[in-house]
Amino acid sequence: MGYDMKNPNEMTIAEAARALRARALSVRELWDQTRAYAKAKNDEIFAYLELFDADNAAIAAAQKRIDAEEDAAPLLCGIPLAIKDNILIEGKTVSAASKMLEQYTASYDATVITKLKESGALFLGRTNMDEFAMGSSTETSAFGATKNPHDRSRVPGGSSGGSAAAVAAHLAIAALGSDTGGSIRQPASLTGVVGVKPTYGAVSRYGLIAMGSSLDQIGPLTKTVDDAEILFDTLRGRDARDATSIPDDLYPAHKTPKTFRIGVPYALLEQGVSADVRARFDETLKALGAAGHRVVDVALPTSAHALPVYYVIMPAEASTNLSRFDGMRYGFSRRGDTLLDDYLLSRSEGFGEEVKRRILLGTFVLSSGYIDAYYRKAHAARTVLTKEYDDAFTEVDVVAVPTSPSPAFRFGEKSDPVSMYVEDIFTVTANLTGMPAISVPMGSVERAGSTLPVGIQFTAPHQAEKLLFAIGSAVEKTRTT
Ligand code: GLN
Repeated sequence: MGYDMKNPNEMTIAEAARALRARALSVRELWDQTRAYAKAKNDEIFAYLELFDADNAAIAAAQKRIDAEEDAAPLLCGIPLAIKDNILIEGKTVSAASKMLEQYTASYDATVITKLKESGALFLGRTNMDEFAMGSSTETSAFGATKNPHDRSRVPGGSSGGSAAAVAAHLAIAALGSDTGGSIRQPASLTGVVGVKPTYGAVSRYGLIAMGSSLDQIGPLTKTVDDAEILFDTLRGRDARDATSIPDDLYPAHKTPKTFRIGVPYALLEQGVSADVRARFDETLKALGAAGHRVVDVALPTSAHALPVYYVIMPAEASTNLSRFDGMRYGFSRRGDTLLDDYLLSRSEGFGEEVKRRILLGTFVLSSGYIDAYYRKAHAARTVLTKEYDDAFTEVDVVAVPTSPSPAFRFGEKSDPVSMYVEDIFTVTANLTGMPAISVPMGSVERAGSTLPVGIQFTAPHQAEKLLFAIGSAVEKTRTT
């Protein structure tokens, strides 16, 4: 009975659900204590852009449901969650951490929010992020950066840095993030929590502010692998409102093996992984080996080019998606002398530097003189990359790499955009191939007197999230025994 020893806000979803059913805790107490702690700590961490007031009707309804249905009530019933500020909640501001949408109110619920509401979950607030999810540190937020709870002079990662920091510092029981090139997994790694990027199409994107439509997925940030599975099982499923969402059985089913064949692309790890991160990675694989799993070297040569491929496709899609923010239809607006001036002023002032950089880059790679050389070429490489992974999965069950080449870095340390992009070297591949991937804590490293967590990432075949939860749990076991 671990739950009566913990503060409610420190509980996992599974623990809180148990405590609620055992009447050791009421939904109101869980909400009040988590919300109060979040409010007290948010000034230091700045995980939330806004904390919501209690929804008394939802709290009462959740309690009533647990009282009536007991164990049959959904595990998320009465659980307070943090939501990334690019996921629409009807009637709430949703800004994507941009001046462009600072005053924008969502007019409908994202499908994931509808599903969470149906399960009785509660919403604590909207979390800080890189502007329009572009970045790996939350430093591009128009409203200030989130701090890493393990060392406040360092970034929490990004773009879902607010969600990750909220979970890591117990300002939420769990959170939702979005992942276009690593934005759930990299901040999970840098803050010491679990993060999952589902199979492309497994979770509806309806009501997610689009960045790269062929890459974006919503997913969980949680304290444990179990919790990630609980959230994923609630979020997943075909949605008529998202034409790219897929039925649960689109791809062949994968049986979860007792012992895993873990593929490691050793050649790829030569690319700038910090020595101590590599050491944690090797130790984790050794522990998995001792638990009966097998580690195999796999060649995934095109992965070495995944980063440039991503940084062509993503800006192309982002530049297209962001064209709707024109000062006419949504959000921030400035009036000039002509219609063209209206556009120029609204977009110049409404968007931050990184967003503008990507719009320019995206427009460039799509322009008629360059589309063959860049955009189409990147698409071809994406196909090759996916094929290489498909082939690898005939020999191994999952592929493992460190989630991020290094631990949390200092604010301002990666002011050169390319040095920031390199952060994503191991995460973008899963978005390009559409395959699911998880980041699980694998220990910590020391930097200038701080102990900083780092994560291990596993990728599985399409719709084989079960394998990720199984191998993720195996990693957790190696760390507790
Ligand atoms: N860091 C990556 C980028 O800046 C990924 C962002 C994301 O996944 N939303 O594009």
